[in-house]
Amino acid sequence: MTMPPRPPSATTPDPWRAHASRIVSIRDETPGVKTYELEFEEASARTGYSFAAGQFNMLYLPGIGEAAISVSSDPDRRETIAHTVRAVGNVTDALTRLAVHDHLFIRGPFGTPWPVTAAGGRDVVIVAGGLGLASQRAAIEQLSRRADGGQTIVLHGAKRPEGLLYASEYDRWRAAGIDVHTVVDEGDAAWTGRVGLVTHLLADLPLDPSATTIFCCGPDAMMVGVAEAAMARGVSAEHVCLSLERNMACAVAHCGLCQFGPHFVCRDGPVLRYDRIASLMRVPQL
Ligand SMILES: Cc1cc2nc3c(=O)[nH]c(=O)nc-3n(C[C@H](O)[C@H](O)[C@H](O)COP(=O)(O)OP(=O)(O)OC[C@H]3O[C@@H](n4cnc5c(N)ncnc54)[C@H](O)[C@@H]3O)c2cc1C
Repeated sequence: MTMPPRPPSATTPDPWRAHASRIVSIRDETPGVKTYELEFEEASARTGYSFAAGQFNMLYLPGIGEAAISVSSDPDRRETIAHTVRAVGNVTDALTRLAVHDHLFIRGPFGTPWPVTAAGGRDVVIVAGGLGLASQRAAIEQLSRRADGGQTIVLHGAKRPEGLLYASEYDRWRAAGIDVHTVVDEGDAAWTGRVGLVTHLLADLPLDPSATTIFCCGPDAMMVGVAEAAMARGVSAEHVCLSLERNMACAVAHCGLCQFGPHFVCRDGPVLRYDRIASLMRVPQL
C-alpha cells in the first residue's frame, strides 16, 4: 500500500511561522482531557490552512513553549480546527489556564496522514488506546461519509469507563454506519460493557484479512500487540499503520529529537507502516 503524499497546505511552506489563533470553545472530554476549537486570526490562514487526518500541529504558547498535538477535527470542516489535549506538562498544563477568546499560536500541519484514500474500498479497523483516538477522529469523520462499500470499525479501549474518549459521538458515528466497540481495563458499578484489552476486541472481530487496513494509535506495547494480532489473522504488515508518539521540538526533521532509527517521526511519521518499523518497535527505548 502506498502512503499518500503530504497534502498541500498554506502554512507548511514556512514551517517556522506560527499563526495566531483564538479559542472558540473548550469542551471537557475525559478527566484531564479537553478539546479546544481554534480559529485562525488571519483571514489568509483561515482560508489557506488545510490538513489531512492524522497530521499534527505544534501549539505554541509564548514564554512557555510548543507541544505537538494531533488535529482532531474533520479535515473537510474548515471554519475551526480542534485539538484534544491531556494536561501532562509545561504547555498542556498552561493550555488548561486559557479560556474562550484567549490566543495561542499554531505551526503546521506536519507529518504523514492516515492513508484514508489508499484504503478506499477496503475495511478500515481503527484501533485506539486512550487518547490515541484523538489522532484518529479526523479519519473517522471522513470515513463516516464513505460510499465505497468498505466497512469502518472503531475499537476503542480505555483504562476505565470515564476514560472513553468522544463517548457523546458514538451514536452519531453508528448512525453513519460505523461499527463502534469499546472495552475497559477495569469497569465500575455502572459498566455493562466488555472488560479486557483492545486486542481482545480485535480477536473477536470477523474480518477479511486481504481487504482490511488497520489504523492504530496508543502506547507502543499496545500497538505492537495489535499489529502482531492483525498479522496473525492474515492482515499484511503493509496494511497495518501505526501513529507513533515521540518527544519532538522542531517538527521539521532538523533537531533529531524524534529520531527513530532512520526515520524522523515528525517528518516520516507519525503514521508509519508496520512493515517499515516492526524491527525498530522491538528495540527498547528507541
Ligand atoms: C505526533 C504527536 C501527536 C500528539 N498528539 C497529541 C494529542 O493529540 N493530544 C495530547 O494531549 N498529546 C499529544 N501528543 C503528546 C504531546 O506532544 C506531549 O505529551 C508533550 O510532551 C506535551 O508537552 P508539554 O510541554 O505539555 O509537556 P512536557 O513539559 O514536555 O512534559 C511531558 C512529560 O514529560 C515529563 N517531563 C518533562 N520534563 C522532564 C524532565 N526534564 N525529565 C523527565 N521527565 C520530564 C513530564 O512530567 C510529562 O510527563 C502528541 C505527540 C506527538 C509526537
